[in-house]
Amino acid sequence: MELVNGALLGKLVWKFISEPDSIWVQLLKARYLKGADFWLHKPPPTASCIWKGLIGMRDHVKQNIIWLIGNGCSVNVWTDPWVPSLPNFRLVPTVEAHSRVVWVKDLILVDSNSWNVQLISEIFSEFEVRAILSIRLPVVPGADRLVWSKSNNGQFSVKSFYKQLIIQAPSNSSSSSTIDPDFPWGKFWKLQGISPRVHMFLWRLLHNGIASRSNSSKFISEINADCPFCLCAIETRDHLLLHCSFSQAVWFASPLGLHFEDSSITIDTMLRNWIESEFGTEGIQLGASLLWCLWKARNRLVFDKIQPDILKIIDAACTLAKDYSAPFSEDVVDFVPGQNLTSHVRWIPPAPNSIKINVDGAFVFPRYSAAAVARNSEGALLGCITSVSECSSPIEAEAFAFLLGASFASRFHTERVIIEGDAKLVVQAISGTQEDIPWRIQSHISDLRHVLHRDDNLEFVFIKRDANCVAHSLAKFALDFTVSDVWLGPYPPSCLVAPIATDRESGCFDS
Ligand SMILES: [Zn+2]
Repeated sequence: MELVNGALLGKLVWKFISEPDSIWVQLLKARYLKGADFWLHKPPPTASCIWKGLIGMRDHVKQNIIWLIGNGCSVNVWTDPWVPSLPNFRLVPTVEAHSRVVWVKDLILVDSNSWNVQLISEIFSEFEVRAILSIRLPVVPGADRLVWSKSNNGQFSVKSFYKQLIIQAPSNSSSSSTIDPDFPWGKFWKLQGISPRVHMFLWRLLHNGIASRSNSSKFISEINADCPFCLCAIETRDHLLLHCSFSQAVWFASPLGLHFEDSSITIDTMLRNWIESEFGTEGIQLGASLLWCLWKARNRLVFDKIQPDILKIIDAACTLAKDYSAPFSEDVVDFVPGQNLTSHVRWIPPAPNSIKINVDGAFVFPRYSAAAVARNSEGALLGCITSVSECSSPIEAEAFAFLLGASFASRFHTERVIIEGDAKLVVQAISGTQEDIPWRIQSHISDLRHVLHRDDNLEFVFIKRDANCVAHSLAKFALDFTVSDVWLGPYPPSCLVAPIATDRESGCFDS
């Protein structure tokens, strides 16, 4: 019940910051803030319950909001959240922070509407540079917008906030070394798609049976119990894997984007929440792999003096999770040339005088690839293109693929171009039939809509994945081998020879 109230107060905080012009916000500001910063304000003892409650929920909201950059004029580089792949979406303020740089617009080259790579590289760490450059600036800049990161469309919802509160809820058990008698062991052992090694590791973790320094120092008195990652706390199980600043950065930068603000959350409560909430199989697979890879990185540091690397840990965890979930995933399309697919779905060539460009994206944090393949009414290849860069979510990769397809289309002079991909959400968002555009691709979608508006001959179409194998194969190839390239003419890269032949032979040309 407390959490429900908290979630409703969260909504009030959201309204407070997103509707600064409304009268009730103005009144509260005049009464309590008197020009002070809302985020730093301490409520006086005489404040109303509502105001105290609102301030009490402020930090829970703060962790989950982010500015989408339009023109960068209203977003402070140093204090506002605006970088999707960083913890809290914020940069770490440096001592010698550039005086020239205050607003995000100061980092943008107005003439080309692109990031000032040189300036950014001078100011920020390599990790931060990559995170900033992976933010896509809209071709047509608009105002910056504040969004709620925990809902798909960026709108605040009480339900999503409530879920955050549950995930971050403190443990009720006072001692983390005693196992919760009600732990859902049945469900735990039934978890699918987790490697047996990792599964056993989780079990050991839950029994606090790993050789962390605080555990070892109980038996060997001269052992140094400091956390090897940060050197500024005792290395307990929960500090090492959840609360350490290093581990927090890993969790946050991972596709899960988790942030454990509450220092009383433990591995037990976290796993329990995952198993019992709607976290989903994929989330658990990745979460378990991250725990395992963090532990391995810790051991390499302690025993082999190898410095841990945030991106390598995430990469290893994603690969591990993917390897074990593969048999359950629809991601895997085994293509045997010449074999008829049992599915009825197949690629259909465009009408004469038209071309069709199939597009697809692939994503393994933090890199993505986009691929576009243009063919004519005979199913013959006209050309294809790939692009590899960085972004922070799979849906961005899909949206990038449509943008790549749209720009590739301008190379061909023809009556009509169909751009076809298997990301239904993107196609629906472009056509406007999908109301809720995921916040991560709002700039992509607004640019795609501009393209559509400008060019009557263009059409964006959804097809099932089975009929999009050519683009899928090319995107996978591009990501696997980091290939950004273009091929014009009838001769495809080798990875496309078989899928293109299959599309041509699959019975489309028997009329
Ligand atoms: Zn630490």
